[in-house]
Amino acid sequence: MTNHTPSETRDAYTGVDFNLGFHVRHYGLDLTYRVRPNRLEGTATLHVVAEDDLSAITLDLTGRLSVRRVKASARVARFKHSGHKLRLTFAETVPAGTEFTLEVRYGGNPGPRRTAWGEIGWEELTDGSLVASQPNGAATWFPCDDTPSRKSTYDVRVTADDPYYVVVNGELLGRVARGSATTWHYQAELPVASYLMTVQTGDYQRFELGARTHAWAPPELEAEVRRAFARQEEMLDLFETTFGDYPYKSYGVVITEDELEIPLEAHGLSTFGVNHLDPEWERLLAHEVAHQWFGNSLGLKRWSDIWLNEGFACYCEWLWAEHAHGIPVADSVREHYEGLVKKPQDIVIGDPGPKDMFDDRVYKRGAITLHALRVSLGDDAFFAAVRRYVTAGRHSLVEPADLRAELGDVDAVWDAWLHQPALPECPQ
Ligand SMILES: [Zn+2]
Repeated sequence: MTNHTPSETRDAYTGVDFNLGFHVRHYGLDLTYRVRPNRLEGTATLHVVAEDDLSAITLDLTGRLSVRRVKASARVARFKHSGHKLRLTFAETVPAGTEFTLEVRYGGNPGPRRTAWGEIGWEELTDGSLVASQPNGAATWFPCDDTPSRKSTYDVRVTADDPYYVVVNGELLGRVARGSATTWHYQAELPVASYLMTVQTGDYQRFELGARTHAWAPPELEAEVRRAFARQEEMLDLFETTFGDYPYKSYGVVITEDELEIPLEAHGLSTFGVNHLDPEWERLLAHEVAHQWFGNSLGLKRWSDIWLNEGFACYCEWLWAEHAHGIPVADSVREHYEGLVKKPQDIVIGDPGPKDMFDDRVYKRGAITLHALRVSLGDDAFFAAVRRYVTAGRHSLVEPADLRAELGDVDAVWDAWLHQPALPECPQ
């Protein structure tokens, strides 16, 4: 599942050197987190497949955490941790095709990584913590190959002081209380990109929203959360009808006691701040659940294709507005097109560059691009093509060419909307 050509050694968007020559098939994380002092200690066991002959490898891990010990079934002669990279040198070359395990003991006071897009990764809350990693914040809490094109399965145990509730992606397999702490055991059986893994602690209680949807929130927010997320299940149903089966068993939302700047999707769940309970943010509830298809199940090979995630998620906001509130998608398109007209037309959303990766124009123009394609093909052909694209890319990786191949002859529309800065006519 690699996409790097041999000449590419660095992620053009995050600026981080790729970790080349291997794939981490599975991560086993066994962590202890003390909330008040914000202290994380853990062991990460990585199940690795060598893709090349390896004399050394690198992993991403923040310099805020210290590596205590490294053990491997392929003997490691030495390791060095500097500049957010953990470099391991093997005693003997590990031949391509070899499967081996790597155990890293590490710990310290985790915290966010400062990036061009703000602080990402591990974050302390007033009373708890969260992880919001897009695009490359996973290395703030475990040693990993922090690139979207490498998906892995996960088994995560987190021991935290009582009475904190721990939320991790995947299924909760069990929790064991010992003394004044509880160990929470989660498993993500389907492949996940590292940036979509999260661990969250807080004074949470879990309650069901619908057959496949649930929330974790402070108990005193329950009534408000139930009101705000009353139609969450219906959103999931709408997108399932439109795009095909929901990719996971269930969908959860974490609502933090703190206000958050933006909500963020993770594998099988999304995180919202208490401020997002206001009805004006209902569109974001639709946006985040849409990412379970577009971004999570259908993962990106490279960040330059971010419009594929955000364009679809944004278009889903408009599909929801039409379904739930009778606002025609064409009206949403027109409204946001007018917003784009007022902004500089100096962005190519098919490859916006790292600085503009999360620019609102990528989101809105990405969504209008989809509408332009829909108008040019007609509803039946467009949605059938998108469903084929979603089915083919399920739990895997996609790139724009995959969608384009399903859509057929759309060259002029595709090029004008995605590869030229000038704004084409509004699709009607
Ligand atoms: Zn989004």
